Amino acid sequence: MPELPEVETIKRELEQSVVGLKIVDVEVPVSSVVKIPTNDFVRRVRGTTITGIGRRAKIILIHLSSGDTLLFHLKVAGNLLYMPADVEKEKAQVIFVLNNGYELRFRDPRLFGYVKLISGDVFRSPELSRLGPEPLSDQFTLDTFREMLQRRPRSQIKGLLLDQSFIAGIGNIYADEILFYARVYPARPAGSLTDEEIRRIYEGIRVILSRAIAERGTSIISYIDLYGKKGNYGNFLKVHYQAGKPCGNDCAGTVVKIKVAGRGTYVCPDCQK
Ligand SMILES: [Zn+2]
Repeated sequence: MPELPEVETIKRELEQSVVGLKIVDVEVPVSSVVKIPTNDFVRRVRGTTITGIGRRAKIILIHLSSGDTLLFHLKVAGNLLYMPADVEKEKAQVIFVLNNGYELRFRDPRLFGYVKLISGDVFRSPELSRLGPEPLSDQFTLDTFREMLQRRPRSQIKGLLLDQSFIAGIGNIYADEILFYARVYPARPAGSLTDEEIRRIYEGIRVILSRAIAERGTSIISYIDLYGKKGNYGNFLKVHYQAGKPCGNDCAGTVVKIKVAGRGTYVCPDCQK
């Protein structure tokens, strides 16, 4: 699933490519991914200009001149692609025809992803109003993180990192990498963490997510960016998807796969305590 670094990459590419362009037509070959009536959706989007791009957690926002906002959740396997209109459409579910000969296409072979159109303050919509803090924002400080953990002492740290209402944008790949960076075992209850371990997890969140954005995200299964290119961070993964390989710290240990918080979880049992 695309996580914060992948979605942030697409957001930055959208800022470079589509802001200021007019949406001259909208095609909806598969209406189930659009969460309002198709006729209404097409009527309200057609003829608007893209005025800005946003991201919150794993959600992409495209602000329109009408005051409405397009909200995209890519879920497990969704892609947002920018390409010339004459390139074959490859089973896109929603196509925004732009006034420069290009199209913005939403494509999800699994059909779990969706598009909504929100009027008014998008941050009060159900998708955005219950999210935890953005981990790279100035508001998310070490003190804030420590207080958040103190309120959930019995919860496993990995489960908390995956919980979008606790902290926004982290999924299974980066939770594993952050806890490896911090040398903390993913099943540890938050209440058992020392001040030093909390500091290392906080630092890991900031460092790992920033590096992954700089490498344009991770492509393990299906993620590609706005231009159809894969992310590079897969080359830097230390534990996630690395079962059986030597530990990335050269500790002489081997990465193993276990289950924590209901998810396949990769750890070095020698480094992570
Ligand atoms: Zn190790």
